[in-house]
Amino acid sequence: MTKDIATRNLNDLITKVEAARLRVSEHHIVKIVGISKYSTSGDIKMLYSVGQRAFGENKVQDLKDKSEVLDEFPIEWHFVGTLQKNKINNLIDLNPVLVHSLDSLELANELNKKLEIKNKKMSCLLQINSSYEDTKSGVDPKDAINIYKQILETCPNITLKGVMTIGANSEDEAKIKESFIITKKIFDDLKEFNPMYCSMGMSGDFELAIACGSNLIRVGSTLFKN
Ligand SMILES: *Cc1c(COP(=O)(O)O)cnc(C)c1O
Repeated sequence: MTKDIATRNLNDLITKVEAARLRVSEHHIVKIVGISKYSTSGDIKMLYSVGQRAFGENKVQDLKDKSEVLDEFPIEWHFVGTLQKNKINNLIDLNPVLVHSLDSLELANELNKKLEIKNKKMSCLLQINSSYEDTKSGVDPKDAINIYKQILETCPNITLKGVMTIGANSEDEAKIKESFIITKKIFDDLKEFNPMYCSMGMSGDFELAIACGSNLIRVGSTLFKN
C-alpha cells in the first residue's frame, strides 16, 4: 500500500463516517478501528503515518507479531477475534486497549482468574450474537443484560465497557439492521452501568450501523484496499 492509497482510503472512510454520524447528531462521535487481520505491518504503518491510530486483530499470535514489529509507534491495539482459553495469558501480556469479543460468562470467569493471578485489568465488550447465526460467537440477546451484570459482579479484573456485534451475514439490509437494532437496545438498557462503546459495523455495513447508533466501527477491507 502506498502513502497515496492510504490517504485516499482513510479520507474516503472519514468522509463517509462523518456524513453518517451527522445524520444521527452532531454530538454523535464514532471511533474508527482499522482491522488489519488481512494486512501487513507495512500497511498498518502506512495508515498510521496518515493519521489512523487504532488497529485491531482477530488472532492473538498476529496481534503479538504485528504489535512487536510496530513497537515504536504508539498504536492503540484492539482484539476482536474469538479468544481460545489457551491463548488468554498471551493476550493479557499484550495489553490490548480493548477486547471486543468476550463471548460467554465462562470465558469471562476464566479471563478474570488469569487477570487476577497477573494482577492486571482488561477492558472488554460483551459480544452479542444478534443475528442468531450458529457460526457466530456471542451471547444470546435475551441473556445479554443478565450476563453483563454477572460479569460486573463476579469479574472485578474485567472492566466492561459496552457491547459488540457482527451484523447478520445477509444480502437483506433489513436483517442486518435488525441485528444492529437488537444490539443498540441492549446497549441502551445497560445505561445505568455507563457503557461506553456500542461496537458494530464493518466495511459493508458501517453506515447502517452508525444510523442504528454504533459509536465504534471496525473496518478492515475498505481501509486496507489497494
Ligand atoms: C474482519 C473483521 C472486521 C472487519 O471486516 P471488514 O469487512 O474487512 O471490514 C470487523 N470485525 C471483526 C470481528 C472481524 O473479524
